[in-house]
Amino acid sequence: MNEAEALAQRVSALDMDTETFRKIGHETVDRIADFWADVRQRPVNYGDDPEQAWGLVGRRGLPETGDDPSRILEEAFSSLAAGSLLNGHPKFFGYITAGAAPIGVVSELLAAGINPNCGGWPLSPVASAMEIQCVQWIAELTGYPAIGGGLLCSGGNMANMLGFWAARRAAFGAEVRTGGTSGLRPRVYAPTGTHTWLQKAVDLSGIGSENVVYVPTERDETMKVAELDRLISEDKANGLTPFLVVASGGTVSTGAVDDISAVRKVCDKHGLWLHVDGAYGAFAACLPDAPTGLKHLALADSVALDPHKWLYAPLEAGCTLVRNKQALYDAFGYRPPYYEFHLEDSDDWCNFYEVGVQNSRGFKALKVWCQLRQAGRAGYVESIGQDVRLAQAMARRVGEAPNMQLESCRLSIVCFRYVPPGVSLETEEGREYVNRLNQAILAETQNGGEGFVSNAVIQSEYFLRACIVNFRTRLSDVHEVVELCRATGERLDANLRART
Ligand SMILES: *Cc1c(COP(=O)(O)O)cnc(C)c1O
Repeated sequence: MNEAEALAQRVSALDMDTETFRKIGHETVDRIADFWADVRQRPVNYGDDPEQAWGLVGRRGLPETGDDPSRILEEAFSSLAAGSLLNGHPKFFGYITAGAAPIGVVSELLAAGINPNCGGWPLSPVASAMEIQCVQWIAELTGYPAIGGGLLCSGGNMANMLGFWAARRAAFGAEVRTGGTSGLRPRVYAPTGTHTWLQKAVDLSGIGSENVVYVPTERDETMKVAELDRLISEDKANGLTPFLVVASGGTVSTGAVDDISAVRKVCDKHGLWLHVDGAYGAFAACLPDAPTGLKHLALADSVALDPHKWLYAPLEAGCTLVRNKQALYDAFGYRPPYYEFHLEDSDDWCNFYEVGVQNSRGFKALKVWCQLRQAGRAGYVESIGQDVRLAQAMARRVGEAPNMQLESCRLSIVCFRYVPPGVSLETEEGREYVNRLNQAILAETQNGGEGFVSNAVIQSEYFLRACIVNFRTRLSDVHEVVELCRATGERLDANLRART
């Protein structure tokens, strides 16, 4: 075949006939279905040994020639199913990672199949409308004013950063986008222990991490609001420029929620933007018995939420909500001559590239939109509520179990530890030993693959931490994980003492 014929009858290495596509699609869906059907029987954890992981991947250079798609997918599936930390396992309580809701998984395939570019309205009219609607639904679910704006993004870090940049622009005006913040001496206030997105944000924006003021917290991790007020006043008196207060809508370690209404008063007094980091907790605002702080989310100028946490969306999906949608256009808008994407001003359409950092954008909203439709408000209220009640049941079981000590239970996070008989937490030595023992319990249980918890360090003391954002978890699962930790503690304690 000469070049002209080859071009005339082009068959690309990436193209695929309809029947082959159906076949590999069905095969993959069947594998995932089987994987979920027996996920409970699988070890939660694979372990973190790089050699083991590379053994499954197989070290090889870029293949010169292609391979059979069915075989490639089968190999990829087997390696991934065997070699992953299974956050969809009913006894996975680590970090804050949810298993993926099935409809979300299938909708990812659909989103990729149509492949709208959700950067510009004309490139994705229906998809962009669905994203606008998805953001409104998230606002409705959490009691945030639906007249505001927002967008989907990669996760909590990015969602928080978008709020941060909106605050920066709102505080310092359009000039900050051309002249930067040199000479302005900006200051940000956040509770001690705020997630590292804030360090990245002040670093990347040139404000510098020295200009984050960490406000002291109570033992329950909530911000001391009187201290916040005092620190702001002190900075103002010294010629610095406070512009942003970050409050917690559920901390990573213990699920603490700040008193948002009290923090709002301080922000109003000093004229500051209030951003709530609700990456984990904000969805719990839908519960009738939500912590009071979450009932006041609407007082925040911006809120970050993570649908890949408590909406159980497959990674990735974050979401930023802002009370004044113009704030995002002001912070991120540019209108280059190569995009003639503008219709008449209205709330009915949006070029998402103008309201965030990304230009080309995938259709992350579809999975969240489908999940919100499948469960409805009632379905989410029930499921999030059940996660909370399972955490409370777990806390009660910790309270009843011998030698187990409960530290806290907030939202769906339980912090606890094993304290062996005869060891006093009153002495430095005793506390030291209990810290080491619980670190060992964590390592041992994570390696064992029967259940998975992570840890929290609260005022230099080490705790085991279970976070339940897991629609597959049942009562027996939380009970079994408590017993796993207790029995492991008992055994490790005996070993450690035998050695000394
Ligand atoms: C998870 C979390 C983050 C980070 O979110 P990612 O989705 O991992 O980027 C930030 N803040 C809080 C409170 C979180 O729980």
